Amino acid sequence: MDQITTTTAEWQALDREHHLHPFTDPKVLGEQGVRVFTQADGCYIWDSDGNKILDTMAGLWCVNVGYGRQELVDAASKQMATLPYYNTFFSSSTPTQIRLARRLSELTPAGLDYFFFANSGSEANDTIIRLVRHFWEVQGQPSKNVFIGRTLGYHGSTLAATSLGGMAPMHAMGQSLLPGFEHIIEPHWYRHGQGKTPEEFGLEAARALETKILELGAENVAAFVGEPLQGAGGVIDPPSTYWPEIQRICKKYDVLLVADEVICGFGRTGNWFGSDTYGIEPDLMPMAKGLSSGYLPIAAVAMNKRVSDAINGGGVISHGYTYSGHPVSCAVALANIDIIEREGLIDKVREETAPYFRDSLQQLADSHPIVGELRGVSLIAGLQLVRDKASREFFAPTEQPAIECREHCIGENLILRAVGHTMVACPPLTIGRSEIDEMIEKTKIGLDKTAAAHG
Ligand code: PLP
Repeated sequence: MDQITTTTAEWQALDREHHLHPFTDPKVLGEQGVRVFTQADGCYIWDSDGNKILDTMAGLWCVNVGYGRQELVDAASKQMATLPYYNTFFSSSTPTQIRLARRLSELTPAGLDYFFFANSGSEANDTIIRLVRHFWEVQGQPSKNVFIGRTLGYHGSTLAATSLGGMAPMHAMGQSLLPGFEHIIEPHWYRHGQGKTPEEFGLEAARALETKILELGAENVAAFVGEPLQGAGGVIDPPSTYWPEIQRICKKYDVLLVADEVICGFGRTGNWFGSDTYGIEPDLMPMAKGLSSGYLPIAAVAMNKRVSDAINGGGVISHGYTYSGHPVSCAVALANIDIIEREGLIDKVREETAPYFRDSLQQLADSHPIVGELRGVSLIAGLQLVRDKASREFFAPTEQPAIECREHCIGENLILRAVGHTMVACPPLTIGRSEIDEMIEKTKIGLDKTAAAHG
């Protein structure tokens, strides 16, 4: 393209002509035109019309250290000048890849000291599926090959990750549900647990796993895979009884436990990993997003010694990606971890930022007629929109109050996400009090306008 494109209308015309967007309704896009973002700093992004917008979604749940970190730019640039690329196939490695694996082993929950690198959360989960099936083959139990996930679980968008997840529209598109994937109910007490305490419901939701294992036969079940807190399904944080019971069941039937940390990892829940927050001891753990704060694509799969020993004794690993352990992405991930540690971001989130964030949101949730409950933990939050707060009447599936609310918020220069009938916030870990105040004020305007339209 010879000419320099400058106006939003020009960007929109070109985009319309050439670009198929992920997770986008082409009809709506055609009517509204694409929104183009051009620069970012801290918790703010700017669009091509010059609007300064508070990004309380940290991009796609990933820019944990905030935008504009020169240190990450320098780490990438230095690595590009030294060794821009080499692969990790055929017994090769690079210093940044080795250093990152070592560094991660110091941060991950006890026993998870061995790593495989990939480029996205989806690839990490595909890797899990291939490695776990291989693990059971090597153990002489090839029939253990079925994976159990959850409704509204999200593990990515490749064919296998789509099947593992529990998103009905994704299964429906292109007949994407592969055989060998089963799902149990998501542990959402407010929706499914009427008449029970959260603790009773947590046990009941976890025991759906036992029922499913018995139905399939434990000799056929490879692993249970769950996000410590379900993010893209609408920020579903399980009752306190849930994970201990899941863990007991997995041990009893020798089913591997996989905690998908793609959103929860790197400080989001007030600890390095969601598994720390919920006391989960997984056998394998995929991670991505906050690993590099989204500055470059990178993902990793952590595994324990039982898994790595078996796999290492099982012959050639016929799996890998050209960019597994890409040296520049590894350099950025190392520098990103340095920032999180040096600035004490996780302690700060746990002790200062999250209490203020949650108190502010709780007050808004309690006082607003259209909000049924506040969910989540630490710096990830979901506001459930309901038609009637007192009776817990939900909106009909055909109604779209959250999308309406999201659009009202964008009109106020605030980015929140709409998931089903839930408004989601997942800001950079660096968000300050004044930015939280701004988020609350603008969210309230969005909720007020939405409530008025549904009054
Ligand atoms: N796993 C979880 C828990 C996620 O939230 C996501 C993305 O949101 C993925 C996996 C997929 O990651 P990616 O989009 O990098 O493939």
